[in-house]
Amino acid sequence: MKAAPTPTISARIFEALADEIIAGKLVPGQRLEERELASRFAASRTPIREALLRLQERGMIEIMPRRGIIVAKISPERLATLLEAQCEFEALCARRACESMSAMERKELEHIHEQSAQYVRAGNHYGFLETNKQFHDFIARSTHNDVLTTMLVEMRERLAPFRQAQSLVENRLELAQSEHEAVVNAILEGNADAAFHAMREHGARLSTHVVRIIRGHNETDVA
Ligand SMILES: [Zn+2]
Repeated sequence: MKAAPTPTISARIFEALADEIIAGKLVPGQRLEERELASRFAASRTPIREALLRLQERGMIEIMPRRGIIVAKISPERLATLLEAQCEFEALCARRACESMSAMERKELEHIHEQSAQYVRAGNHYGFLETNKQFHDFIARSTHNDVLTTMLVEMRERLAPFRQAQSLVENRLELAQSEHEAVVNAILEGNADAAFHAMREHGARLSTHVVRIIRGHNETDVA
């Protein structure tokens, strides 16, 4: 088993803040102070700024010249639209990959899947997220169409914090792994339609879960 990947300081800060925004612990409009974050995470300004920039790129915070850093309001409708598009697109890429993969690529996919199974057995959340990314990126590349690959990788990257919030993945590694298994089996059998449906199921479950959580805490904000 490969050594478990360790996240960088800025990745850790980014993930912690993204989790809190998604879980509604940091509420829309709330102000964030660089100095406070630096002392809270016992980190220097550089990793804090890197984490903040990533949050800004994903529309989770707004950095305004004179007003400072503010937690953005995430519209559940917009998020649902984005996640649905990703889910459909990814299923389509799985079908395309199934049709275009070489024997060597199929082996490589199996290998990534086995590595991921080891992290699941060890309950290693980070290791799983890393191999999960490899799994999806590999399928994107296996479409052998660089436009599809780039579009999917960018879409996944943009929505990753929503899918990966700790509260969502906890105790769900086994479920995600078994959904991956269905995708892998379909691809190994060369059944492109089954690959499409298996990937769509995987994406749809996560998306529905994320939207439900976001909707839940937005409703609490109103009440
Ligand atoms: Zn996955």
